[in-house]
Amino acid sequence: RGDKAEPVIPFAQPGSLTRVYAVASGKGGVGKSSVTVNLAASLAARGLSVGVLDADIYGHSVPRMMGTDARPTQVDSMIMPPQAHGVKIISVAMFTTGNTPVVWRGPMLHRALQQFLADVFWGDLDVLLLDLPPGTGDVAISIAQLIPGAEILVVTTPQTAAAEVAERAGAIALQTRQRVAGVIENMAGLTLPDGTVLDVFGSGGGEQVAARLTRAVGADVPLLGQIPLDPQLREAGDAGTPVVLSDPDSPTGAALRGIADRL
Ligand code: ADP
Repeated sequence: RGDKAEPVIPFAQPGSLTRVYAVASGKGGVGKSSVTVNLAASLAARGLSVGVLDADIYGHSVPRMMGTDARPTQVDSMIMPPQAHGVKIISVAMFTTGNTPVVWRGPMLHRALQQFLADVFWGDLDVLLLDLPPGTGDVAISIAQLIPGAEILVVTTPQTAAAEVAERAGAIALQTRQRVAGVIENMAGLTLPDGTVLDVFGSGGGEQVAARLTRAVGADVPLLGQIPLDPQLREAGDAGTPVVLSDPDSPTGAALRGIADRL
């Protein structure tokens, strides 16, 4: 037919041993990227071979949170991903100059993702985490087409209004027939210096999304864990060393490690 052969995506091949998780959220700013880098760093610290594909073209903050500004190198026809904290990382940010915003449209984005998945030398990964843009947009659909076996992790805040939006991000799995691996509640209670806990963003959102998605997809969707609102998490991300590494035994580090253990 004269068409070029479709690029081969190793994670989509039958018998692939890589578990692929697409980390999704209903809206931006709920901590999706922070959760992604902490889970990745935690799994790598446990000795697993881990990759992160930062597909959040609007937010792309993974390299900064992982403390790297390295660029990929090319060897023959393969793109070699830089590593940080033992995690292989590819981000759209690595293919832009300066802080230029990326304005890609659907088809281009699909092709870029295809290339990141097929032409990057990921090696034999145990786990690949995909940091999706917020919402139920083109990227989620593309991922479902490119890696049908990818499972979805939904990040939400405890706020019940936000939970409804998060639920929509998870419900896309119904259309794409993907498994929803679980819900992660981020920005839960903030512990004040006197020990009292302040529910800045309310409570119950994680439970609500898990229960509703369980009903929607007709399979158990667990609440995998609750991560406190904690300035230390933000500071660690800003400094480029995820809190699971900088302070693994803090309540926040422990909550994140507990979630990684359940993946
Ligand atoms: P998203 O990827 O959903 O847009 P980010 O991971 O970029 O969200 O997080 C948004 C901001 O909130 C960042 O500045 C991050 O450091 C901060 N943040 C995320 N989770 C927490 C938390 N549990 N406690 C404190 N700050 C957080």
